[in-house]
Amino acid sequence: MELIIIIIVISILAILTVLLMMKMNIKELEKIALDSELNEIAEKYPSNIEICRTILKKLKNEKVEIEENSKSEATIYIAISNKILIGNMHNSFTRIQTIVHECLHSIQDRKMLIFNFIYSNLYLLYFVITTIFLILNKLPNEMFFTCILLILSFVYYAIRTFLENDAMIKAEYLAKEYMIEQKISSKEEIEKVVQGFKKINDGCIKGTNAQIFVNIMIKVILFNALALIF
Ligand SMILES: [Zn+2]
Repeated sequence: MELIIIIIVISILAILTVLLMMKMNIKELEKIALDSELNEIAEKYPSNIEICRTILKKLKNEKVEIEENSKSEATIYIAISNKILIGNMHNSFTRIQTIVHECLHSIQDRKMLIFNFIYSNLYLLYFVITTIFLILNKLPNEMFFTCILLILSFVYYAIRTFLENDAMIKAEYLAKEYMIEQKISSKEEIEKVVQGFKKINDGCIKGTNAQIFVNIMIKVILFNALALIF
């Protein structure tokens, strides 16, 4: 009983520490993304699908399928079907960097991408099944299952943050290279947009890392909170 409470308190403190260190100001990021000057510069660039095609060609990975769905808010790369889904990006200049980000995912180590897909599902399944057994009072030792959950979480965290950080860190440079090669904007205009990418990245890289950490720790807290009740 006391051990469970200590685990919950430490987990909450861990979340608060990470959030404090890696704070992302969403309002500020939204303001940058809506910057009309930057958006006007980026408007002159081709359609999302065309940008995506050009970047994939640049990365020598043209086998990726591209699909656009303006009703969706999410832009993602699906490793299992080797497909990039482009959502509604509200004509923000950030669309260039977001597309580049997904294209970068598509050239990551295939073995790791597939592992990440299968593992994240198994990890979730472990959490759901142990939680159900816990509620049914069928778990012999909650501490043991919490330890296993933590170990599984670390593996998930290591792979997932690597994949995201790799794509996020490279995206800014590849997007800049793409803009220079397109010869649509002046040097100054490109520099302004790249500064915007930098500011967005500054917040998003911290925010994404914090988010993945919070997601795993919430599971630990939830599992132990339920162990207290049941
Ligand atoms: Zn990503």
